[in-house]
Amino acid sequence: MAILDGKRILVTGVLTDASLAFGVAKLAQEQGAEILLTGAGRGLSLTKRSARKLPSEPDVLELDVTDPAQVAAARDAIGERWGRVDGALHAIGFAPAACLGGGFMEAGWDDVSVALQVSAYSLKTLAEVVVPHMTDGGSIVGLDFDNSRQAWPAYDWMGVAKAALESTSRYLARDLGPKGIRVNLIAAGPVRTLAAKSIPGFSRFEDVWDERSPLGWDVRADADAVARSCVALLSDWFPKTTAEIVHVDGGYHSTGA
Ligand code: NAP
Repeated sequence: MAILDGKRILVTGVLTDASLAFGVAKLAQEQGAEILLTGAGRGLSLTKRSARKLPSEPDVLELDVTDPAQVAAARDAIGERWGRVDGALHAIGFAPAACLGGGFMEAGWDDVSVALQVSAYSLKTLAEVVVPHMTDGGSIVGLDFDNSRQAWPAYDWMGVAKAALESTSRYLARDLGPKGIRVNLIAAGPVRTLAAKSIPGFSRFEDVWDERSPLGWDVRADADAVARSCVALLSDWFPKTTAEIVHVDGGYHSTGA
């Protein structure tokens, strides 16, 4: 039996076939899930193109997490189509250029607020879309880049947004636990995606990651490890795990220089 047999899962963040969410969508289908994708703004057509590359082409809903009308429409559309939802992947992140690359003191609130809304508050927004349909419990999984303890080069306000995402996941886990809904994050190592390439100095992460990780790290191939772990958390195989941050980073977070 496949581990997502009979599950209905909403997958955000499939932009290209290099997106971390694409790997999750593909594996979720291979593991028996029925999926729906969401896409936003100018990327919507790219999401539709990527949908055609999946084993079975899923429908794509429009969902810009900053647009309340689209949030309500996505919630209603999922209800009409499925009635019940079992899982959701949050793979949404964006920070304006001023928020990345070393000008931490120069970034203004207009830019920082966008990074926080799209990258952190949006986990709550996604919960608004799916929780009304999680009538038999559920699993919400988000993608983190570990910011528990350190400031990274160049990551700047995106790092602050990820710290906020971590906290948001804990509060959601607190409030949704009584409904049987688990909320967890995967703290992934660096993978070459469009979002990653927009971070100036991203290659500095790549250079050290493989050297320092006990298990090693491949910035292309290890997207598969991220996908497997997300699918495991979306399945019934972590029934008592919530508010957790699972590192899928080759063990990098555990080592010093
Ligand atoms: P990606 O392929 O560029 O995916 C980012 C996604 O966020 C895109 O689909 C993008 O869609 C979506 N997005 C941006 N603004 C949005 C909005 N307002 N509403 C809805 N969706 C929006 O890059 P990725 O690396 O796979 O990123 C997925 C997640 O993994 C992000 O949270 C990222 O921080 C996290 N992560 C990535 C790495 C890495 O090294 N790649 C490591 C750890 C964690 P549009 O472009 O169409 O807006």
